[in-house]
Amino acid sequence: GGGMIAELAKSLSDLLTAERARFTVEHPRSVAMAKAAGAHWRGGAPMHWMNDWASPSPIFAAQGVGAQITDVDGKLYDDFCLGDTPSMFGHGDPSVAAAVSDQIKRGAGFMLPTASAAIVGKLLSERFGLPLWQAATTASDANRAAIRWARAVTGRPVILVFDGCYHGMVDDAFVVLKDGAPVMKPGLLGQVHDLTATTRVVAFNDLAALEAALAPGDVAAVLAEPVMTNCGMILPEPGFLEALRRLTREAGTLLVIDETHTISTGPGGYTRAHGLEPDVFVLGKAVAGGVPAAVWGVTAELSARMDAAQQRIGPGQSGIGTTLSGNALAMAAMRAMLSEVMTEAAYGKMLAGAERLVAGLNAVIAARRLPWSVVHVGARVELVFADPPPKNAAQMRKVLDHEAVEALHLWLINRGVLIAPFHNMMLVSPVTEDAAIDRLVAAVDGFAAAMGE
Ligand code: PMP
Repeated sequence: GGGMIAELAKSLSDLLTAERARFTVEHPRSVAMAKAAGAHWRGGAPMHWMNDWASPSPIFAAQGVGAQITDVDGKLYDDFCLGDTPSMFGHGDPSVAAAVSDQIKRGAGFMLPTASAAIVGKLLSERFGLPLWQAATTASDANRAAIRWARAVTGRPVILVFDGCYHGMVDDAFVVLKDGAPVMKPGLLGQVHDLTATTRVVAFNDLAALEAALAPGDVAAVLAEPVMTNCGMILPEPGFLEALRRLTREAGTLLVIDETHTISTGPGGYTRAHGLEPDVFVLGKAVAGGVPAAVWGVTAELSARMDAAQQRIGPGQSGIGTTLSGNALAMAAMRAMLSEVMTEAAYGKMLAGAERLVAGLNAVIAARRLPWSVVHVGARVELVFADPPPKNAAQMRKVLDHEAVEALHLWLINRGVLIAPFHNMMLVSPVTEDAAIDRLVAAVDGFAAAMGE
């Protein structure tokens, strides 16, 4: 009843107060660095997300080794955030380190392809099945390129996304459903155009809504993650992705699959594991092991349509891009990642680790009879504060208790475990040790005990 809820809220806020005080006492150097940096970096850090952790001020990292980070106060963390994916194969991988340091000595930015570029293109095609590729610097850039090209080749204005999606700094994707109606996200400060005019948004797993949204024939592309990983985690219901492909084909709409997070599924991403047939495949973050780089691949048919669109504008106008994309450093890093790091064997270890984590969390839930559940897509595991797990973002928003998430995260930080901010996402790398997984499970159990659950 109401009394119990009030009691729980009080224990949450008491817990947060105590854990914040503990953090501050135990991290004097990080706190001092944040204060000093605050004179020159807005908010005390070079990127505002670094302030979005549950700690009262940012943790300053000293170094990462394997799946662990040491901070400037000498605290050691088991890292299940892994930079929110770029480091999902571990920090300081020797193959990537060698490739990058060798290349930087021989030059990084030529605006010319290198021998590694030829190899990387072949590796991408073989691994993911799409024949033709382009590089970008971030997954955000790659998604924006995909959207622009989809509009260019189809001559259609509208982009369709799923409610609760995140595809990076891609304004077109910042439209959400509020009480069933599309609205721009409040976070989209400074956007002066009404994006609801050209972005359509439907609930994930809602085939009737998808079909209706495609029916007018004005949708250039659907931009989607095969598993939604940025609003808690929402799995596709059986048949949903097959129907998505069939309906987009019937409507003449391109399908852009953003695998930036779902590359956790296996060596060829969710696409290869589940036989998806995207027109565009997008991958960023981990593909270059932390060197800023992304890639997007297209079908031969789409590539030909892009050529035709380019020919219509005539020579001397090769389009829009960014200078650092596809540079020698990015290619050297990707070559090492694709040939030596993102291997079958590495995936074998990550997937086994993820199974261990899922089993451990499920055991905590069962033993304490918690109203929680665990979902995962390969090595990416999400603890959801609801059971059964929601099927769309509207349901997820109701159960994503931000204070509880913050309390769990800060509890974990103070016990030497990092998980990505915003929701309860945990990444298992090939170099994550079983003992680290067990420590995470024990810390979650301790949190549940502290909350009296
Ligand atoms: N796509 C997905 C699915 C993502 O989760 C993200 C980032 N969280 C991006 C794209 C954007 O990646 P970046 O910030 O590296 O541009």
